Amino acid sequence: NNYLIAALSAAAEGRGREVFAEVPGQVPVTFGGLFAGAERMAAALVSKGLQPGDRVAVQVEKTIEAIQLYLGTVMAGGVFLPLNTAYTTSEVAYFLGDATPRVVVCDPTKAEEITPIAEGAAVLTLDGAGQGSLAELADAQTGFEPVARGADDLAAILYTSGTTGRSKGAMLSHDNLLSNSETLRDYWQFTQDDVLIHALPIFHTHGLFVATNVALLSGASVVFLAKFDADTIVDAMPKATSLMGVPTFYTRLLKDARLTKDQAANMRLFISGSAPLLVDTHEQWEARTGHRILERYGMTETNMSTSNPYEGERRAGTVGFPLPGVEVRIGADDAEVAQGEIGVLEVRGRNVFQGYWQMPEKTAEELLPDGWFITGDLAKVDADGYVTIVGRSKDLVITGGFNVYPKEIESLIDDLDGVLESAVIGVSHADFGEAVVAVVVRSDPTLTEAQVSGPLAKSLAKFKQPKQVIFLPELPRNTMGKVQKKALRESYAKLFA
Ligand code: ATP
Ligand code: MG
Repeated sequence: NNYLIAALSAAAEGRGREVFAEVPGQVPVTFGGLFAGAERMAAALVSKGLQPGDRVAVQVEKTIEAIQLYLGTVMAGGVFLPLNTAYTTSEVAYFLGDATPRVVVCDPTKAEEITPIAEGAAVLTLDGAGQGSLAELADAQTGFEPVARGADDLAAILYTSGTTGRSKGAMLSHDNLLSNSETLRDYWQFTQDDVLIHALPIFHTHGLFVATNVALLSGASVVFLAKFDADTIVDAMPKATSLMGVPTFYTRLLKDARLTKDQAANMRLFISGSAPLLVDTHEQWEARTGHRILERYGMTETNMSTSNPYEGERRAGTVGFPLPGVEVRIGADDAEVAQGEIGVLEVRGRNVFQGYWQMPEKTAEELLPDGWFITGDLAKVDADGYVTIVGRSKDLVITGGFNVYPKEIESLIDDLDGVLESAVIGVSHADFGEAVVAVVVRSDPTLTEAQVSGPLAKSLAKFKQPKQVIFLPELPRNTMGKVQKKALRESYAKLFA
């Protein structure tokens, strides 16, 4: 028995001819077709020498074949290792050297550059149309009997997004993935009647595990989109029931005039995560569609840890409650803070990963022997139990010995007229150690620095007030919509030098 595959394929049992995925411009993919293709992928990998526990590193466009490659890898007892399509070959070289995969799958256009850095791994190709040497090899295979794997065996190594530093490989077991998908399916009430708009990338936990595994486990179908496209998503809403997105999905969809209550009438659930959703976006979305976005929080290492409730109040600006089976505490170095105070969020449960790949010291620092994982996110819990993420401990600004939480200042700036959004960072300063600097994106181009600092001076202690306000046309973001504060800190490192 293959622990994860048995569960993911169970809901498709007896429904082989029913549609799993609608892919624009393509023949719909049935459940039977999905799993038959996954078996052929598994057989293809094994024909290249894949042994249980071997890594399959994958940098390919989002296609159904790529999903089959994920399922096929796990079926063959392998460890799936997807890589962001934006990574350059020299970045990919780091991951291949670190993970020493048996098989590397890349776009045909990159095969020539990747082969020399693959260090002896078999290199196969898969393009954006699902074609390539891997597809050919798979087509030549017949069925495959899933390789037995247990709850604690690894199913994937997923590298973190690299927002705070070099990406780390999070080792995820079959049970880490399955337990979290089961919890989410039940908490968000996914059933086989659901049609999920799947527009997230599949090299990240959000699109690969939250979206794909939850859909498969509940036997739901998906509208499978290779990338985010506001028009296509709005078009799909009348025949869909749910959308999982990052905050930028929602801000971009709001710019589409066709987004109305009528258009969204068939939808039952909009979920957001991977980066903070602005309260303003939450409110605008409700005004336009009549739906309150459900915000949840998670990370590569822990899968999903907290969620706003399905029934009950979805509180804007918060990430809701610990999920069933997930324990959460706000502790600074093991001493839990008083209720309502800010501290580092720690998480424990079946969702928490097995450690960082080839980083025993880092694992020992962050994953405690009793199972608690120190997330590095700063959070607080309100009197009703709602968790709010206040930022990352690495983004905390210490100025003149005082702690400044960027989120507090960003929230005040974001509320000012003429401001779209902001990011507050600490910049090295001879007198203060670090100085608070606000980077602001204007909606009103005439807004001045004084119009930002003036109101802040009234509501903030002197040490929290930005020493400088910088206007930018937009904040630097990665594909998951995460603001790259590291890049901002680097840009303005010499501001006070
Ligand atoms: P790295 O660990 O390499 O620096 P990363 O932490 O951005 O990168 P991910 O695992 O993709 O990599 O992202 C997890 C992080 O995303 C969380 O630790 C948290 O900071 C942030 N995050 C996720 N969901 C939310 C949310 N709903 N609100 C605020 N932050 C969120
Ligand atoms: Mg992280």
